[in-house]
Amino acid sequence: MTQASVCFIGAGNMSRSIISGMVNNGYDPKLIYASNPSQPKLDALQADFGINTSNDNLAVAKQCDVIVFSVKPQLMEQVCNHLAQLDLSNKLVVTIAAGIPAKRYQDYLKQPIKLIRTMPNTPTQIGYGMTGLHAQDNISDEHKQICELLMQSGGKVVWVEQEDELDQVIALAGSSPAYFFLFIESMIETGIKMGMSEQQARELAQQAALGAAKMVIQNPEQSLATLRNNVTSKGGTTAQAVNTFEQGDLRGLVDKAMHNCVARAKEMA
Ligand code: NAD
Repeated sequence: MTQASVCFIGAGNMSRSIISGMVNNGYDPKLIYASNPSQPKLDALQADFGINTSNDNLAVAKQCDVIVFSVKPQLMEQVCNHLAQLDLSNKLVVTIAAGIPAKRYQDYLKQPIKLIRTMPNTPTQIGYGMTGLHAQDNISDEHKQICELLMQSGGKVVWVEQEDELDQVIALAGSSPAYFFLFIESMIETGIKMGMSEQQARELAQQAALGAAKMVIQNPEQSLATLRNNVTSKGGTTAQAVNTFEQGDLRGLVDKAMHNCVARAKEMA
């Protein structure tokens, strides 16, 4: 597939992660553009990846096949309104902003557009991201492939059929790194209370989390219950800890947290 020219409107953390992955995966940096009001981020992107940079959103958007909106959601209307003067009929529009429904981009850009909404998470910054993608009905397979190529540079991708399924993507992947951070943080706090140094407690907890995640990924044929039972001898130490979680209704708490997450995503839309 020929590589498309791509501009990132907003050159912050997420754009940097995606651009870094693209270039590391062999995308031609001459086809990548980033636009941002402040110069230091642009200078760093140019120095690190050899891409094109600009302070002029309109100029880069005019020039490129694909426009990736990567500004904070509260700035989206203003940024899109400015680009509404362009003819976008032959361009693919991709957004990574949380919360804003597809229809609203059409209103902001004042014309019919070809839009793919994406929902990445923070581990995208280190190549271990999980991104949910949703394409409007008018998106060609070629445009889907182009978008997949961009977002895969930050990790894995999954397509959802319905736009509102992106809310479930938020609960399962967008917001969930924070759930795991909280769990590991709680373990470290208790490790310290038990007399360990913070450094040692962190090292133990983070390596256990990494090992557990890798075991889940490397044993797709085994259920999570099997993996858990394999390390839980009857009457042993792990059983004591796991039973404490079950009695405290950890599953109920996770269910409630994820439903609250989805409800908030719908409120914010
Ligand atoms: P960021 O603040 O790091 O980057 C946004 C950039 O936009 C900044 O560099 C800012 O200078 C620039 N900007 C401001 N006004 C602009 C304008 N008028 N034109 C062009 N650029 C302008 O934010 P981020 O973390 O990279 O997030 C970007 C988008 O990604 C947000 O919409 C956010 O919802 C979404 N997102 C982020 C994450 C994450 O993990 N950070 C995850 C999922 C989705």
